[in-house]
Amino acid sequence: FLPHLVAAMVEVEETYIMIKPDGVQRGLVGEIISRFEKKGFKLTGLKLFQCPKELAQEHYKDLQSKPFFPKLIDYITSGPVVCMAWEGVGVVASARKLIGATNPLNAEPGTIRGDLAVQTGRNVVHGSDSPENGKREIALWFKEGELCEWAPVQEPWLKE
Ligand code: GDP
Ligand code: MG
Repeated sequence: FLPHLVAAMVEVEETYIMIKPDGVQRGLVGEIISRFEKKGFKLTGLKLFQCPKELAQEHYKDLQSKPFFPKLIDYITSGPVVCMAWEGVGVVASARKLIGATNPLNAEPGTIRGDLAVQTGRNVVHGSDSPENGKREIALWFKEGELCEWAPVQEPWLKE
């Protein structure tokens, strides 16, 4: 495939982005939201939320056999998180790039984890890893009526 054909195939997607308890405690909420806002994606859901243990376990169920799983659940439920749904063309992979590598020491400068974190177990933000998981996670963390469909006025200035 030629690159421009691949680019044209990328569709409007949804991703679940979550500022983890360390991001909230460290006063990074505005900074992190700002990265996605400035990029030009559309915010469709936003709330501060104390996550129950069962929800954290369901969200991270693919990792339940990992040795760090209990610590991960303690971490995610240790204080409020900021739950967000973002929409845009190619938003899933693009948000993962903005977030950076899982281990912040390997994350490039300019990424959220590269700029703002030092440890895998305190890596300040979550982003869905596929469009399917984006949908699954948004349905898991948001109730009906909590998401907004709206048309940002900047749209003609973002898309030709
Ligand atoms: P992500 O998609 O980049 O968030 O990474 P993963 O899906 O592989 O892991 C989910 C989350 O589990 C990570 O963001 C970390 O918070 C945590 N995690 C992953 N690997 C480790 C680890 O080796 N040790 C600890 N303490 N936490 C981990
Ligand atoms: Mg993941």
